[in-house]
Amino acid sequence: MKVLKFGGTSVGSVESIRNVKNILAKGSGKKVLVLSAMAGVTNKLVEITDFIKAENYSAINSIIAELKIKHESTIDALIDQPVLNSQAKDFINNVLQNIQDLSHTKYSESLYAEVVTTGETMLTYIFSNFLTNSGFQNNFLNAKEFMKVSNLENPDTDLVGKLFEKNIAHLEPADIYITQGFVRIDGQNSISTLKRGGSDYSATILAAAVQAEEVQIWTDIDGFHNNDPRYVENTHAIAELSFEEAAELAYFGAKILHPQTISPVIKRQIPLFLKNTFTPELPGTKISAEIHSRGLKAISAKDGITAIKIKSNRMLMAHGFLKKIFEVFDKYETAIDMITTSEIAISLTIDDDRNLKEILEELIAYGEITVEKEHSIICIVGEGLIEDKSTSRLFELLNEIPVRMISYGGSDNNISLLVDTKNKIQTLQGLNRKLFEDRAIPQFV
Ligand code: ADP
Ligand code: ASP
Ligand code: MG
Repeated sequence: MKVLKFGGTSVGSVESIRNVKNILAKGSGKKVLVLSAMAGVTNKLVEITDFIKAENYSAINSIIAELKIKHESTIDALIDQPVLNSQAKDFINNVLQNIQDLSHTKYSESLYAEVVTTGETMLTYIFSNFLTNSGFQNNFLNAKEFMKVSNLENPDTDLVGKLFEKNIAHLEPADIYITQGFVRIDGQNSISTLKRGGSDYSATILAAAVQAEEVQIWTDIDGFHNNDPRYVENTHAIAELSFEEAAELAYFGAKILHPQTISPVIKRQIPLFLKNTFTPELPGTKISAEIHSRGLKAISAKDGITAIKIKSNRMLMAHGFLKKIFEVFDKYETAIDMITTSEIAISLTIDDDRNLKEILEELIAYGEITVEKEHSIICIVGEGLIEDKSTSRLFELLNEIPVRMISYGGSDNNISLLVDTKNKIQTLQGLNRKLFEDRAIPQFV
């Protein structure tokens, strides 16, 4: 079994959806397809939830009308058999009517999740009928029946696997199963999400659950690039990454993969391929346990970072002091990403600032506290990176950009810098020049 995930732009138009069918037609064997909503639809659904809060019913109605036109015109372009066509339209209208009904109930987290995950519900149904219309036998699966993920960081993939098997047991055998990304059922049995961009994570959870031979993530770019192509020119796709390299880059902001995507496949050593739906002939990126190349690979940036400095001339390096500091973060279940220390101060970073106020109230007992928001972690990644001679060139950047913290040597495949977010793009571009463009040949020794 293979798991194939197609993202929003891959299913964003009639033409792209036809492309997806052509890609499927080329491969053989059993496949589970995990699909996102059509590009832009989830954002519209998020807007609806804002209008539910604001009780702005006319705004809700106009978005629902827009979504109806978008999906119905897609159905008309793709599905010409009358029964399949009207079945798909009825399905979409039921989903939209349900949103309409929900909009008059009390706002809650699960109402939010129920509304924002309907983009996937609508598109998967249309896609399933489109395949049937084109003569491809397939089964439509409701992910809410098996995507039981109580712990977002550590999903119980065995449980998901058992529920998936139970779900397909009574179905007619088919080579293609189609299901929704993004949605999950949480520990309280409520509808929830895997967070924005979560369909990548749905695909790898499912791959681990069914012990898939591989996962393919199909998107709008030809693989994992060595730097963020939204901010840097002359980036290129990387042929291969190790699981650890990819996990580090995804966690530290590379938008192409949801931050948690890699962990389910690392455990089961399932290779992951990143491919471009619009140029399927290109090789893309292979992410696996087999590393054939070492040295510098890529740079990513994660925004929304808060830096906290605790200055204490009394007892910073005294035995037990750091433990007390860490216990405060542990108490509020807040992960620390970077740490640097000096004799009289410790600086650390967090990205989850939901409990910042409480954390600071407790930290004040240990010294003088400074907080700086809107920072970005720039993450430089490659197996054996610190043995790569050219890596040292990154320090030349210190002449150009105020770097707030540096983490070097924590592992031999990662160097992280903390900069003010207003300097992020300049840092990414500067590093690209120094580490990739100015070096003629790899300098790894
Ligand atoms: P999908 O809708 O298919 O999930 P995303 O928009 O989430 O697609 O991810 C693909 C986009 O990620 C690319 O179009 C690109 O702009 C952006 N991106 C950011 N960093 C990278 C990177 N290192 N390599 C490739 N793409 C990246
Ligand atoms: N449709 C969802 C989003 O836009 C999930 C995804 O595309 O991965 O966040
Ligand atoms: Mg994505």
